Amino acid sequence: MNSVARGVAIACLSAGVAGMMAGCGGNDAHSETAQSLPRNVILIISDGTDDQMITMARNYLVGAAGMLELDKLPMRGAAQVLTINEQDPSIVEYVADSSNGGTSLAAGAITSTGRIGTIPQGDADVQNILELAKAQGYRTGVVTTAKVTDATPAAFLAHVNSRMCDTAANMNANPMSFPANPGCLPDKKANGGKGSIVEQIADGNADVVLGGGKTVFGSTVEAGGMTALESAQANGFTYVSTEAELTAYAGGGKLLGLFANSDLPLRFTGPTPVLITDGPDGLPVLPEAVECAENPASANAPSLAVMTTKALALLSKGNDKGFVLMIENASSDKGSHGHNPCGSIGEMQQLDEAVAIARSFAKKNRETLLLVTSDHGGPVQIVPERSLIAMPGFYEPYSVGYVARLITKDEAVMRINYATNNSGFFEEHTGVNVPVYADSSNLVYTLKPYMKQTEVFTEMKKHLQL
Ligand code: MG
Ligand code: ZN
Repeated sequence: MNSVARGVAIACLSAGVAGMMAGCGGNDAHSETAQSLPRNVILIISDGTDDQMITMARNYLVGAAGMLELDKLPMRGAAQVLTINEQDPSIVEYVADSSNGGTSLAAGAITSTGRIGTIPQGDADVQNILELAKAQGYRTGVVTTAKVTDATPAAFLAHVNSRMCDTAANMNANPMSFPANPGCLPDKKANGGKGSIVEQIADGNADVVLGGGKTVFGSTVEAGGMTALESAQANGFTYVSTEAELTAYAGGGKLLGLFANSDLPLRFTGPTPVLITDGPDGLPVLPEAVECAENPASANAPSLAVMTTKALALLSKGNDKGFVLMIENASSDKGSHGHNPCGSIGEMQQLDEAVAIARSFAKKNRETLLLVTSDHGGPVQIVPERSLIAMPGFYEPYSVGYVARLITKDEAVMRINYATNNSGFFEEHTGVNVPVYADSSNLVYTLKPYMKQTEVFTEMKKHLQL
């Protein structure tokens, strides 16, 4: 034994059990035991994202031969989305929304569309991963490009009968879209409930909450006359509202960052898809093929990358236990609903930046599990520029849906189609399964190639030893 090795051996002996836990006593990498390092989970949810969405983003941003950061993640599986009927939970439904998809991911509970952290027939609350982790001493955080009361973040921060129960003023609502749902009244504090989503965030104990939602936080809480923001501050949250304030924040308490009145601004703007019509020659009049444009308003709020970097720094600083952080790019889905492919693509670029940051964190911080998935599928379809049954110049069939034509990184034309309903202004989600990607600095981690969406929750729980 040389003198250096002898010195280490003596240090390990004197450090006793604590020393063994810190990795003394061998060359085996596995001797760095689970207890010696903080255990972290980073869950990234790309709202309304299936392979059509991902392929649209890849084609546009890096070209068909390119790879997104997402594509470089080492493990990939698929999750079956699960939804049940509100009135009769024994009936399966095949298309989810962000509320029940979010509840599956956050709490491992299958519920009906519109519900946030609750289940039908009795409205029972289901504990989510942030609550379970907090109870064991982990730090917790939520970062989103939506308002922080939106369905996805709400599924990690609140329990209400409906996503519509976002402010005290809206607690008398009986949401039209979810007719069998008992509505918000039972969740009012006066009725023994936990209050609206914004009140539950203000009353809550998450360490970091970043996104949009100044307007909802300006609403008055049910009792006492304070705004939700004042209520959050009274509960110990430091409030920041600009990127400069966010980056300057040194930490040391709970942080609430709200950077827009509602959702954060989109990175890209672009063409509004149109219904194709026949010209005088009987051939289709196509919308012009164009590129997306930068949205100058996006400079008014921090990017998802900036928020992710700050959240990771705050959650990991001086933290021996670990954390769970949910990061959402929300407007991939909102772009789909509003016939806005460029809006979706900009959010997918934001997702990709957040994935790169999370991967590099996981690389440096062993025992970090990174999962990237979605809550439900969306309406985007990439359809051919030239139909397989076309006779060019004579017969050129086209989609009956709303169509945009984008010039991609390949300098080729990608035709995007939306055709889930006849409203003309709002596209639906779809019932396809969603991808699940994983990376882990812990090389023994493996991802099941096929799982139920609720198993994402199980994976996080297992990793945090909850
Ligand atoms: Mg969402
Ligand atoms: Zn949606």
